[in-house]
Amino acid sequence: MSKWSWLLGLAALLIVAAFIAGMKVGSASSVASIMAQTADAAPPSAKSIDKPTPALPTPTQTPVIIAPATTATPAATATPAAPAGEVKIEKYYGTVFNNGPKSAKLVALTFDDGPSAAYNQRFVETLQKEKATATFFMIGTSVMQNPGLVKNTADAGCEIGLHSMTHPNPAHTTTEKMLKEITGECELIQGITGQRPHLYRPPYGAITRAEREIGQQNQFVLVNWSIDTRDWTAKASAESVHAAVMKQLHPGAIILMHEIKAHTLEALPRIISDIRAHGYEFVTVSKLLEEAAIAPPEAMSNGGGAMNEPAPAAPQAIPIGDLKGMMNTQNSKTAKKANP
Ligand SMILES: [Zn+2]
Repeated sequence: MSKWSWLLGLAALLIVAAFIAGMKVGSASSVASIMAQTADAAPPSAKSIDKPTPALPTPTQTPVIIAPATTATPAATATPAAPAGEVKIEKYYGTVFNNGPKSAKLVALTFDDGPSAAYNQRFVETLQKEKATATFFMIGTSVMQNPGLVKNTADAGCEIGLHSMTHPNPAHTTTEKMLKEITGECELIQGITGQRPHLYRPPYGAITRAEREIGQQNQFVLVNWSIDTRDWTAKASAESVHAAVMKQLHPGAIILMHEIKAHTLEALPRIISDIRAHGYEFVTVSKLLEEAAIAPPEAMSNGGGAMNEPAPAAPQAIPIGDLKGMMNTQNSKTAKKANP
């Protein structure tokens, strides 16, 4: 290599280095300009505060540099669309439901107080055989004893809801204890199934203000029922359970049963085939609520006050006086003397 060509090479290298340095300065200044624009775009006027500006990067995020791939769709990350199969019931957190909309012939079977080592698997097998689905509101202590049954129930396409860790009466339990009862069981079930439960059925159907607050703040919908099969009573039989369902059957029904009862298991195939013969389809409670979310308001009214209005949009607003209206009278009576 000659002396001249060596010098030419060095000069070329210096030009390239200067060019790169210039680019870096340029990109840094454009980030600074975006940050300045963001600050300018949000003057402290009432109008601009009301209007959400999710698309603009905030100075602390600086996603332009760190993760350019995620900045391509900022709107999508701000308001994520639920993936296929995921239920969009967020608007109902903290709200109490006794049934779904009357606009479609959908019914939700629910089974409380499991998983039962004696019966759970047979309930799930019956549902699979009859091509039906259901929602199981399980007790945490039984979940701990039978995690395999919980997984099996979820794998069979059934929904798992919360029913507290130890089944205390919420009306006689402190808020702190209920919070642990509900969130503790939620973590437990999520650890087993990989899916976070979004439904909570209070023991005894007893809805307190504390439970609604817990639901609102921790993302749970409160679910009671519109048809009580009274399968928990001493006099119950397969016939009485079946008769109770068929007598009260209505679109959007949430049917209360227990998976710890032999007569309920015995009645189940007939209950499924007779409900289906009336033109109904079986759905999980979440699916029913998803249906409620898209139903027109008039379809939600059932005249009996059992269908409850969704909670106000503001998460902190919990009308105390509304509590009585959130439960139908049937459930109130049941809560006093029953053991659902
Ligand atoms: Zn129960």
